[in-house]
Amino acid sequence: MTRFEDIKAFAFDVDGVFTDGLVLAMPDGDLLRQFNSKDCFGVRTAVDNGFPCAIITGGVSQSLLHRARSLGIRDKHLYMLSKDKESDFLHFCRSICLEPAQVAFVGDDIPDIPAMLASGLGVCPSDAVAEVRSAADFVSTFAGGRGCIRDLVERVLKPQDKWLFDPKNPWKGSHPDSITKFAKLTGRNREMPDQVGHDEA
Ligand SMILES: [Mg+2]
Repeated sequence: MTRFEDIKAFAFDVDGVFTDGLVLAMPDGDLLRQFNSKDCFGVRTAVDNGFPCAIITGGVSQSLLHRARSLGIRDKHLYMLSKDKESDFLHFCRSICLEPAQVAFVGDDIPDIPAMLASGLGVCPSDAVAEVRSAADFVSTFAGGRGCIRDLVERVLKPQDKWLFDPKNPWKGSHPDSITKFAKLTGRNREMPDQVGHDEA
């Protein structure tokens, strides 16, 4: 197990980690998910402070792509329809030139276990399935979609003095995602360019 203060990057499952695991099945086949804004703030802050982040999920949706972009996650680090999370996790590690031992993986269900074991710090929410809790290096006291990601990110960034966020200059003025660019053209942001809105996470 790698210490929290030695972790340099994160990889996350989605359902049951970013969310409480519930999905709303729409008539058109799309699946709607609820993301926790505090968790998302944690991820965005990690990315902003130099911690590459990946999403590795068996799911797929357009909204997930937009959510990942708004968190600062690069498209090439979004692994959807993953059939082998360990393989995708190792691919992510190679792409950022880090050893798997330097990267944490967060999962909640059986398909996540190989990637957790391959990582330096296998983490799960408090409501992960029993097999995952047994395999994890660290079981958060927070549930999926209820703060487990924020818990981990703060434990990693704070001892490295990387838990840094300037409320007066959110995300260092960087708004790379298309949604935020669009938002800046709307509403009060158009009239108050010095106080442009930013994605909440
Ligand atoms: Mg899951």
